[in-house]
Amino acid sequence: MKNCFIKKYKLFNYANLIIHARITVKSVVYNNCYNMVDVFLLLGSNMGERHDLLKEAANHIAQTIAPVLKTSSVYETQAWGKTDEPDYLNQVLLVQTDMPARQVLNHVLNIEQQMGRKREVKWGARSIDIDILFYGDAIINEQGLTVPHPQLHNRRFTLEPLVEIAPHLNHPVLNQTIVRLKNNLNDCLVVKKL
Ligand code: AMP
Repeated sequence: MKNCFIKKYKLFNYANLIIHARITVKSVVYNNCYNMVDVFLLLGSNMGERHDLLKEAANHIAQTIAPVLKTSSVYETQAWGKTDEPDYLNQVLLVQTDMPARQVLNHVLNIEQQMGRKREVKWGARSIDIDILFYGDAIINEQGLTVPHPQLHNRRFTLEPLVEIAPHLNHPVLNQTIVRLKNNLNDCLVVKKL
């Protein structure tokens, strides 16, 4: 009788151990994923070899920020703000990273600079422009960094590629999905999927 009780007690303890181990493994995996954030980036180019410049920017992003998990099609779009500028190519990329938003911005600015971006005229022609559209569901209003990007909901050249890869993503400030923002757009500039 006593032996039987000890056996049962041991079995109970083993079972507990296994359950505990599973919970621990689960929480480790959970914690590893916990810090990863979905970051949506918009690429734009309206100077030189535009297709090559988009590819080059995506390569730099993969090397310095994180591997690119999703890419939209490339869109040819009429210049916004300064409509006498040459047409742009635009594309949205998704990366997943645990890098702080400010560090993502610093990489973005370095890539733009490395790729010959000159900031001379507001909305002027540029070899490459990279905007941070979303950093998870974070709302950031700091000097030099506003996320979600403050103009994204007004721009067809942003919402058309974005809706292709993240239609149900929620805008944390406007509390509307991307597909809904796109359907309510007031922007008539031409955006053509290539
Ligand atoms: P732009 O001329 O559109 O490339 O603007 C670049 C400037 O916008 C940079 O100096 C950034 O510091 C600032 N900025 C603020 N918010 C963002 C954002 N969400 N993504 C990219 N640049 C941003």
